[in-house]
Amino acid sequence: MVTFEEAYDIILGAAFLAGTHRIGHLDSSGRILAEDIISDMAMPPFDKAAVDGYACRKQDLDKDLKVIEILPAGKFPEQHIRQGECSRIMTGAMVPQGADVVIMVEDTVVTNDGHVRFTSAKTNVNICYQAEDLREGDIVLKRGTFIRPQEIAVMASVGCISPLVYQSPGVGIISTGDELVEPGQKPGLSQIRNSNASQIAAQLAGMGVTAHYLGIARDDKDSTFSLISRAFLDDDVVILSGGVSMGEYDYVPEVLNEMAFEIKFKSIAIQPGRPTLFGVRGKKLLFGLPGNPVSSFVIFEILVKPLLYKIMGYDFRPVSLKLPMGTDYSRSKSKRKTILPVRINDEGFVMPVDYHGSAHIHAYAYADGIITMNIGETIIKKGDIVSVRPV
Ligand code: AMP
Ligand code: MG
Repeated sequence: MVTFEEAYDIILGAAFLAGTHRIGHLDSSGRILAEDIISDMAMPPFDKAAVDGYACRKQDLDKDLKVIEILPAGKFPEQHIRQGECSRIMTGAMVPQGADVVIMVEDTVVTNDGHVRFTSAKTNVNICYQAEDLREGDIVLKRGTFIRPQEIAVMASVGCISPLVYQSPGVGIISTGDELVEPGQKPGLSQIRNSNASQIAAQLAGMGVTAHYLGIARDDKDSTFSLISRAFLDDDVVILSGGVSMGEYDYVPEVLNEMAFEIKFKSIAIQPGRPTLFGVRGKKLLFGLPGNPVSSFVIFEILVKPLLYKIMGYDFRPVSLKLPMGTDYSRSKSKRKTILPVRINDEGFVMPVDYHGSAHIHAYAYADGIITMNIGETIIKKGDIVSVRPV
């Protein structure tokens, strides 16, 4: 048995780095940049009007000004502003030479003879200066950045339409258990539905990773052997659920030994999730997750996800919200780290959800996140600040 921290280090130590490829920037959401993105131009590229109004000289604000040009956004100014002159200018248009202020249209009146008069006591400059956001050649996004819509906008703004990103690993999924039928089927009297394969596929999809589902291995050696071998033909990482605890029909460790995998550990001092196995053969990595759906869910979240992200070139740091506990919570045993599902109520307090143990995946449908009790910790008091990791 290893601690969670030991398991984490072993798993992340086995990570390899995925290859890279270029994809369309519009398809890059959720992917990780494999190159720095450099700006090919300054932003703004020219001194730009920040408001609709009139471009003129500060020293002329006490004069009636003659309008010499109209400047919609996108038009290159042909006239220079001289004493007593202004150009009508729209937001985003290039400020003409000679002007050092744009007065807002709301701060002006037009006189009977068509001149513009400034009517306010003071004004902002209302010019966004060339390169004030960015200079040509600046790094706008760094390698290792997780791409969200805002990063896609940044790429678009500097003309990067085919960023280099890390490839997503394909991941094989295998369920084990003679009691399982697929979700579209009605279970017989001693059967249950295979929810883990759907759960793991959805967790992978949430990370932009493609799942290859191989089906249910029966609780016998041949079936287990044949599905694991098949999975590794296509994929470097395989996630299997069930069949790794100490039952008489838990064949996974034996099969892995025969396949020359090194089993790094078979159990972790964590609850839920103790019977978790991690096997390595070169670049081939296998997770044996516990069959119980909550255990499988939690171990994916806290151990599989960081590994897959590392393979994808991303140093995953989960969000951790520091919030006060809304009630006392205690446990009698403290030999293992415990993960609990919680809700954040409308007042911002953390409340444990009604949870009956590692088979009770429905509890997680009501959870906003998880909290951790470390080894030796038996009580959390109302008002204590806890770290909530959204799930
Ligand atoms: P095991 O780890 O194979 O001993 O399974 C532990 C528990 O999880 C048993 O109650 C199984 O019926 C259940 N279980 C195993 N695999 C799945 C699955 N794919 N979906 C839902 N429950 C499962
Ligand atoms: Mg089983």
